[in-house]
Amino acid sequence: MISSLFKITTYRLGAAMQRHKGIIQTIQWIIVGFYVVLLVIPAFMDLPPRQAHILNNLVLFAQFVFWGIWWPFVILSMLVIGRVWCGVFCPEGAISEWTSKKFGKNKKIPRWIKWKAWPAIAFILTTLYGQLISVYDYADSALLILGGSTVAAILIGYLYGRENRVWCRYLCPVNGVFNLLSRLSPFSFKSDAKKWSEYHGNSVSNPHCPPMINIRQLHGVSGCHMCGRCAGLRDAVSLQPRSVNEEIITYGNEKDNLWETRLLLFGMIGVAIGAFTWTVSPWFVTAKQFLANWLINHDILWPMNATAPWWILTNHPENNDSFNWLDGFCVTFYILGSGLLYGFGLTGVYKSLAKFLYRPNLYSYIAQALIPIAAAGLFLGLTATSVKLLQYDGIVFWWLKDARVTILAFFSLWSLYLGYNILRKSTDIFYKFIISFGLFALSLVPIVGAWWLMFMGW
Ligand code: SF4
Repeated sequence: MISSLFKITTYRLGAAMQRHKGIIQTIQWIIVGFYVVLLVIPAFMDLPPRQAHILNNLVLFAQFVFWGIWWPFVILSMLVIGRVWCGVFCPEGAISEWTSKKFGKNKKIPRWIKWKAWPAIAFILTTLYGQLISVYDYADSALLILGGSTVAAILIGYLYGRENRVWCRYLCPVNGVFNLLSRLSPFSFKSDAKKWSEYHGNSVSNPHCPPMINIRQLHGVSGCHMCGRCAGLRDAVSLQPRSVNEEIITYGNEKDNLWETRLLLFGMIGVAIGAFTWTVSPWFVTAKQFLANWLINHDILWPMNATAPWWILTNHPENNDSFNWLDGFCVTFYILGSGLLYGFGLTGVYKSLAKFLYRPNLYSYIAQALIPIAAAGLFLGLTATSVKLLQYDGIVFWWLKDARVTILAFFSLWSLYLGYNILRKSTDIFYKFIISFGLFALSLVPIVGAWWLMFMGW
């Protein structure tokens, strides 16, 4: 009874999205206005004085909104409502689509844009660059990274496609991340193949799909931005509830995009761990001190000078916060090193499992079982900024440690559950299953261990 009520409500919600496009557009433009104000104005204001608070200083307020609320909860929203953020709320996608519609040159999308590696490369480089110029701490850095991405989105919208979101589909630095995370969403738009082919109503043309999805084959498609425009098409397309494990366990085997897997293992796990832990890692400090001593002993002193401009390395002497060249090198080495270490380590384990079970596709399939723990890491890492800003304002989080442990435990168990089911589907031989599941469970240890060190150990 409750389940069918839920199904009907979900269906109606999807249909309402289709009927009320105007409301969705209004929401998009309100968010665009909000985004522009919070991104541009603080970049031209002075650094906040010591006694400033989130509620009485626009720079701190914008910092809190972008990094304390916006990003962590966009990540969370992928798990709860799928890519509704992309289709309904994202200001960058809305501006890019509008530019394409109003002024677009409608040029053919070149092949270089469709290169499948872009989501992984863009995510890794943006994450690294963000750390080098302290994007979480300074409004001019935020304007450079977020504003730069928006300008690029407008340019791509202007040049390529008609009313399409070419930027969002191929080049957005978080497109690949959202694509992977939304596989855990309990909702998705689906097309019923039987109803589609048996449709005898009025002839209808397909609605315009901004990320250029084949609506007829809409099932388990995390590239769908959930904008709702195709709801009700041929009486076959609707928003539907689903199991949060469905897209990975049922359809994960069909998705053999190696670059998605690399994004997950090298980027969302390895690089993210490096980017969030370097500021608290004693290993980082030890390595930097060792290098500094070595340089001094060899009379090489220029790397100790903070001469880089703020848009290459953090340089805010008025805030006693400047990176010298050695800092820049160490941060880059730590973050990329972490990406390579986790990426190659996990790849080695999962490729060995694929060989052991004679399933060549298993590498990408089993890697998707890590999406929950990767999501937990991104959420916890990003909320560390929210917590820091609120603690500056005197708010005490006595429950924080327990909440972090619970989140880590819950998402680790979820990853284990997915791994268990994928391996059950991959082999009928009991001893092979036990060995491969044991290996998979072991592969989670360094990931959970890194987050434990960050929040509890160091
Ligand atoms: S398939 Fe396209 S039109 Fe339909 S909801 Fe997804 S993004 Fe929108």
